[in-house]
Amino acid sequence: MSAPLRRDQKSISSEVLDDVTSGRLEVLAAPEVLEWALKTFHPRIALSASFGGPEGMVILDMMHRINPRSRVFVLDTGRLPQATYDLIDRVRDRYDKDVEIVFPEAGAVQKLVHDHGANLFYESIERRQLCCQVRKVEPLNRKLSELDAWVSGLRRDQNVTRTETPQVEVDRVHRGMIKVNPLAGWSADDVWRYVRERGVPTNRLHAKGYPSVGCDPCSRAIKEGEDPRAGRWWWERPETKECGIHIGEEEEGSGI
Ligand code: SF4
Repeated sequence: MSAPLRRDQKSISSEVLDDVTSGRLEVLAAPEVLEWALKTFHPRIALSASFGGPEGMVILDMMHRINPRSRVFVLDTGRLPQATYDLIDRVRDRYDKDVEIVFPEAGAVQKLVHDHGANLFYESIERRQLCCQVRKVEPLNRKLSELDAWVSGLRRDQNVTRTETPQVEVDRVHRGMIKVNPLAGWSADDVWRYVRERGVPTNRLHAKGYPSVGCDPCSRAIKEGEDPRAGRWWWERPETKECGIHIGEEEEGSGI
């Protein structure tokens, strides 16, 4: 059963809440979901794209077709591979898009590295989650506090932690804002078909065996037959493989 909204959480109009909870949006195609979202929330809605997976690039392309002024941001953890920075530049040129870059707090990163070293993520799940907290979760929360809705590239079949993902939901982790997951029901084949048909730019590391690209020290290429998520935090079990961005403290129990 879902938790009730807390008093500090964002108030949503009853019409929007009705759209979200009625299930009507769940039967729409991805571009239709995005049309509804942009019509309802722009400019207080933005895509959170890692530039390390084709899903975000597909959504960016769809949003741009609906509204060329649609917004996208990326969390620059300071540990991204060069290929990801290159893709950000390609997107800026191709779409004439102002990609909003969100950095972690410099003081928090300095303390993290001072206290635990630059490679703390390999030492334990707790240290890995601490690094994700400082470099991803806190910056994301700060960015989301400016918005009423956000868009993510989650798909249900990506991981055991994502099998219940709806197309549109009330994000109780982030003050009751609206979270839009337009590709929730898409397969990887659907995503790549769209990329090919529309010539969408993607991260060049996909061609080197990376189904998704995160921070450089926490991503690797996978071998044939391996699970697509096997290259992310490969030293952990599948059920811990989230950075905290898409999982709430209540759901995790132990926090992020
Ligand atoms: S993915 Fe790795 S380097 Fe990036 S924030 Fe998480 S633990 Fe740190």
